Amino acid sequence: MKIIQKTPEKIIFVEEAKESLANAIRRSALEIPILAVDEVEFSKNDSVLYDEVIALRMGLLPLKTPKDMNLREECTCKNEGCSKCSVQLKLVAKGPGIIYAKDLNGKAEAVYEDMPIVSLIEEQEIELVATARLGKGIEHTKFSPGIFFYRNVAEIEIGKGCEKCADCAKACPQGILKLEKNKIEVTDKYKCDLCEACVEVCRKDGESEIKISPGKELIFTIESFGQIKADEILARAVDVLIDNLKELK
Ligand SMILES: [Zn+2]
Repeated sequence: MKIIQKTPEKIIFVEEAKESLANAIRRSALEIPILAVDEVEFSKNDSVLYDEVIALRMGLLPLKTPKDMNLREECTCKNEGCSKCSVQLKLVAKGPGIIYAKDLNGKAEAVYEDMPIVSLIEEQEIELVATARLGKGIEHTKFSPGIFFYRNVAEIEIGKGCEKCADCAKACPQGILKLEKNKIEVTDKYKCDLCEACVEVCRKDGESEIKISPGKELIFTIESFGQIKADEILARAVDVLIDNLKELK
């Protein structure tokens, strides 16, 4: 595995893998249990937004997902809801002002504190109790841990006549082709998304000096929404896939 970029939020790496396996891992990321608000009980809402709209917005707030929580359907409480499988968040606020994710009180922590929930004017009040639980992205997108995609790494073949015009270098929107010492050099093939702008500009009589084709290696990008780290999305997606395959035995 060749790591191109790695931060807690984002990981980009290159690996030679079959697309069927890569896709199975990608899909498994939607089965990682992730914490999100699932029920909201309002006791007061003077704002201009309907209860349903606020509840939907709260569902989409990324919450830091603890490792030791149970899925409600697998919990000892038998789907009743208890402290091992649910977290309650309280919101009591009065206008004027914007109410943010940081104004929620409870044991779950919002990933982005400054995400706005609702705007209140003078004298407007809001009071609610939200219940968050673990869920899976295949059930609802709010339980998705992030974005996971891959594509083929490009094989770039530079022809002999390329250095004469260097039009391909000018045409590349990623700027990865450079004319250096009378030679076209590929500076970073991992940036190539096979758009073939270089091939188009070079094509004469249906033939092009420069050739681009999808290679065997795949370049993966995983970007976390913040509930769990990007490298954890990969590790846990693989675990989910292995677990699902065990059921086939
Ligand atoms: Zn429980």
